[in-house]
Amino acid sequence: MRGERIERLGPGVAIPPGARVIDLTGHTVLPGFVDGHVHLAGRTTGEGDWVHGLVTESAADNAIYGVVNARRTLLAGFTTVRNVGARGFADVALRNAINAGRVPGPRIQAAAHPLGISGGHCDDNGYVPGLFGREPGPLEGIADGAGQIRQAVRTQVKYGADVIKFCATGGVLSQGDDVGAQQYSEEEMRVLVETARLAGRRVAAHAHGSEGIMAAARAGVTSVEHGSFMTEEAARVMVEHGTWLVPTLMAGEAVGGPGSEARLPAWAARKGRMAWEAMQRGIRTSVRAGVRIALGTDAGVFPHGTNAREFELLVNLGGLTPMQAIQAGTMNAATLLGMERDIGSLEEGKLADIVAVAGDPLADITRLQRIEFVMKGGEVTRAAAPTP
Ligand SMILES: [Zn+2]
Repeated sequence: MRGERIERLGPGVAIPPGARVIDLTGHTVLPGFVDGHVHLAGRTTGEGDWVHGLVTESAADNAIYGVVNARRTLLAGFTTVRNVGARGFADVALRNAINAGRVPGPRIQAAAHPLGISGGHCDDNGYVPGLFGREPGPLEGIADGAGQIRQAVRTQVKYGADVIKFCATGGVLSQGDDVGAQQYSEEEMRVLVETARLAGRRVAAHAHGSEGIMAAARAGVTSVEHGSFMTEEAARVMVEHGTWLVPTLMAGEAVGGPGSEARLPAWAARKGRMAWEAMQRGIRTSVRAGVRIALGTDAGVFPHGTNAREFELLVNLGGLTPMQAIQAGTMNAATLLGMERDIGSLEEGKLADIVAVAGDPLADITRLQRIEFVMKGGEVTRAAAPTP
């Protein structure tokens, strides 16, 4: 490579004089991984007094968590991420600091505040009215009806959002809503997608229930996140509209799998179990129907830096081949982000985002959880131990 890009590739490349040689004999070299769904800027769910983070920690606190989490994510081989929700533009600040080289981390596509209805999954519920002196509004992503939705999308873009995220249905870690129930009307989703499109932004929709999944797909979102209660009909609608599914199986496991009860309040654990049970069937339904799958984990619901377990779950639960799982976390996720011309595969002219593992990950997909070498944009951020 020269500078941040791959100049030549292949077996017959002559090594120019003075070039630095990195010997990765015995390793499998892959494109840098892409995680389509993370929350870098904040405390990890279940860690310390995370339930009260809203009233005890500011956007500045969240940005500092983000600095630590971004480094862990990069060292795990994820050289690009889509950050789908953060408070106070902490993700935008983190993205800018990484781009400027002030702190190490993956390339970030930031959504800033996710949009949601009053009292929905993207709102903060269970507190007294006017907690911060007024109700949250479009600046914080809380928007009801066409006018507020337009204002909320434009406000997120104004303050640095690269992509727009919204909550189409209820969720697990929100109090007082039903995990599967649709929240925005399809008409509201259309306004949201149209406004984002005019601003040149793609849209990611958090959706667990099938009605919300179908409404979001018909409204023209780029991706559905989670997709837990996927039905055959919903999967068909997604295929018809070319909608990506970002399965976040690790998040399902974290909120509904073994040990989740101990980390979550009872109301969240109950919803988590339902979602996880459905998600394990839903991913099969989606794969069978031919829905396009891009890897995304929801890291932040579990510790950052463990993201590569999602490859294993895509194989074991989703029934993808190891190669399909790797493509979900490289070329597919790059395409989801609209960055397929720069990242997602090792090709001449693309950014030199390169990772390596010992041995063959096609024979053992868990090898991807033991990354030994990371290069982002031509810069080595994790050096492999020399092969004996
Ligand atoms: Zn999420």
